[in-house]
Amino acid sequence: MAEYDVDLFVIGGGSGGVRAARIAAGYGARVVVAEEYRMGGTCVIRGCVPKKLFVIGSHVHQEIEDAAGFGWSIGNVSLDWAKLVANKDKEIARLEGAYTTNVEKSGARIVKTRAVLEDAHTIRLGTGETVTAKYILIATGGAPNHGPAIPGIEHVISSNEAFHLKELPKRIVIQGGGYIALEFAGIFAGYGSDVTVVYRGENILRGFDEDVRKHVRAEMEKRGITIITGCTVTKVDKHGRDFTSHLSGGSSIASDQVMFAIGRHPNVANLGLETAGVAINPANGGIQVDGWSKTSADNIYAIGDVTHRTNLTPVAIREGHAFADTVFGKRPVQVDHAMIPTAVFSQPEVGTVGLTEEEARAQFSHIDVYKADFRPIKATMSGRDTRVLMKLVVDGLSDRVLGCHIVGDCAAEITQAVAIAVKMKATKADFDATVALHPTASEELVTMR
Ligand code: FAD
Ligand code: NDP
Repeated sequence: MAEYDVDLFVIGGGSGGVRAARIAAGYGARVVVAEEYRMGGTCVIRGCVPKKLFVIGSHVHQEIEDAAGFGWSIGNVSLDWAKLVANKDKEIARLEGAYTTNVEKSGARIVKTRAVLEDAHTIRLGTGETVTAKYILIATGGAPNHGPAIPGIEHVISSNEAFHLKELPKRIVIQGGGYIALEFAGIFAGYGSDVTVVYRGENILRGFDEDVRKHVRAEMEKRGITIITGCTVTKVDKHGRDFTSHLSGGSSIASDQVMFAIGRHPNVANLGLETAGVAINPANGGIQVDGWSKTSADNIYAIGDVTHRTNLTPVAIREGHAFADTVFGKRPVQVDHAMIPTAVFSQPEVGTVGLTEEEARAQFSHIDVYKADFRPIKATMSGRDTRVLMKLVVDGLSDRVLGCHIVGDCAAEITQAVAIAVKMKATKADFDATVALHPTASEELVTMR
């Protein structure tokens, strides 16, 4: 008789957990996945996918405005917000079904319940049952931070609720200057809300290239988004259906919704980590892992947002895949966390891969910077006041392209392709040797001198 009920128990049916379960089952392992909410996890249910659908939808209004310069005369347009939300929910339910089917097809079994560790080989389910497993994978993801307990915090929504609003807010205050704050600022502004972003630091997108930060802020402001920096929301009052956000600087803003997007924390609470000997990384609050995603307990691994390394879907997927290859496929593989491309789906978009100019200057003795700041061809006829930024950061000694930063339409799509070259250690001379594809915005990347 087998020593354990299963070979692998995965806690969390999100991007990373699902990938690990499917690959491990493909290697013949007996796998169970526990999911307490909905299969697909954050990315599919209340992250990347519904966000991108909202972003795509919110662009339409700008397209309609821009159409006039190209000869179109478009009559009255109106928005059915409830229909948007319902159609998005339908698509998310379809994807949830596809995730479930794919896991089941792989041979893994799903249990729709919360699971916690009882010891290093035993998992207790919400149903009260216990399951023993040779290996356990913790892939419980993360959740929005609520922030400090300011008066009125109970009135504040996070991205979780922003996906299910009954009405489009006419006015919304969004606190935060990172990915989610800026993406939702663009979404709501695109659909017609009056948006105010409140950010505690000097400028939004801390950690991104300085030119990118300045450029995206200026472009968002041109699109009518108010960005207030150097302060925080200290209190939120509710009067009927209206809210007043009081700011640390002394001013206040009236709105129909207040949203905080102030970071996310790993889902580690009440998981039984201590009883199983799984340590937390004191530096970031995530589960401590080594390069193989192994925790301090020999048979327990952790991947994705719960480790708080690089909180992106493709990274969670790759970590899950690498874990399954290593432990069940006899193909040891470590995930390389360098040069991971990323995009902020703000409006305009930001795409970035590699080092910022500031990081490069701190690490290399001679840095060359190539920049193009230009009016995109579409704006010449639409009349829209907008500019694109493209920037390459190059090591002056080896000529290697260390970083590429783009703000503008399709920045994410362009960055995915450029990331291949940057990851392959392409030099500026390689970029220059590539013939331009005309007329595109990205041809600037091979023509900047
Ligand atoms: P998750 O996908 O969070 O999955 C964890 C799962 O575990 C959840 O389903 C949860 O219900 C379940 N769970 C937790 N605890 C238990 C338990 N004890 N028992 C059973 N089940 C449990 N990344 C990108 O790359 N691109 C984007 O455009 C992007 N947009 C985003 C937009 C938003 C609004 C948010 C919030 C995130 C976005 N992300 C994006 C980040 C991305 O969603 C995450 O990095 C990714 O989902 C992490 O995958 P994961 O498998 O680690 O965790
Ligand atoms: P981010 O870390 O990107 O941004 C958090 C923002 O909130 C920062 O501007 C931060 O300021 C500010 N902040 C933090 N704490 C406080 C506080 N107590 N009071 C006021 N402001 C505060 O987190 P998000 O929540 O936007 O997103 C979480 C993660 O999810 C991202 O980091 C990313 O990994 C992932 N994600 C990825 C997306 C994508 O790939 N397109 C989209 C959405 C999310 P400061 O900079 O000063 O610390």
